[in-house]
Amino acid sequence: MRIIDSVSEMQQQSDAWRRDGKRIAFVPTMGYLHAGHLALMQSARKHGDAVVISIFVNPTQFGPGEDFERYPRSFEKDIQLATEVGVDVAFVPQVREMYPEGFQSYVEVTKVTLPLCGRSRPGHFRGVCTVVLKLFNLVQPDIAVFGQKDAQQSLVVRRMARDLNIPARIVVAPTIREPDGLAMSSRNECLSPLERYRAAALCQALELARKAFRKGERNAAALKKLARRHLLKIPGLRLEYLELRNISHLRSVSQASHGDLLAVAAFLGKTRLIDNVRL
Ligand code: AMP
Repeated sequence: MRIIDSVSEMQQQSDAWRRDGKRIAFVPTMGYLHAGHLALMQSARKHGDAVVISIFVNPTQFGPGEDFERYPRSFEKDIQLATEVGVDVAFVPQVREMYPEGFQSYVEVTKVTLPLCGRSRPGHFRGVCTVVLKLFNLVQPDIAVFGQKDAQQSLVVRRMARDLNIPARIVVAPTIREPDGLAMSSRNECLSPLERYRAAALCQALELARKAFRKGERNAAALKKLARRHLLKIPGLRLEYLELRNISHLRSVSQASHGDLLAVAAFLGKTRLIDNVRL
């Protein structure tokens, strides 16, 4: 696997692949790789002749007082894991390479960024879209793979790709979970053992609501109440949102339908976790 840290080298590599008619599949990450990331890379392997990942903890998607400094990093292990799954290039730029002196251009996707994580993290998706568009311009992917774990992010990126005529096809891969159901996340590393134990409550709560939906409950308030009641029993868990939204525009629904998104965000101690299921 080749490791590239400069913007111009990345562009040259992608240009060379494209001249050779290779299909480029791309997986952007913030590193501290786990099985969820690796599943995206395996999916990318199936879709493309050349697989690129990026490892970049993007400062512009973190708000003031968020966990940019605390975000876990494990460069050597990441490189080893990516090599093992057959990634061709890991693009690992420094912050000053992506945001040089004088940087002042940002991408804003409007409506679909307003609810859920967008409400509690103002500016977050502006940072995400800006870095994803920059990475797309450098890597020139035919296909880019994102995780359902960050459902809103996948929708926002899809919207941006459509609106800005980005030629990459956006593929969304399923959420990979720990044996107790907790969605894999680099941030799980920040949990104490007790918090880690309690964190399984997020997916349990979502599953409770999903089961009720399967049994015929369609009232959104009732479904949310079921999930919320479970979460409120967990000591030290601070619920940020628990919402049922339609999947295409993230509009709030009062009657649940197949495919709707039930999404949750909660803090355990200082660590913010998100999860979601489709009904
Ligand atoms: P991150 O490094 O957290 O920014 O995530 C990079 C990509 O991996 C994003 O597209 C995430 O949605 C995806 N991802 C993160 N966790 C998981 C998971 N547990 N299962 C599937 N994809 C994931």
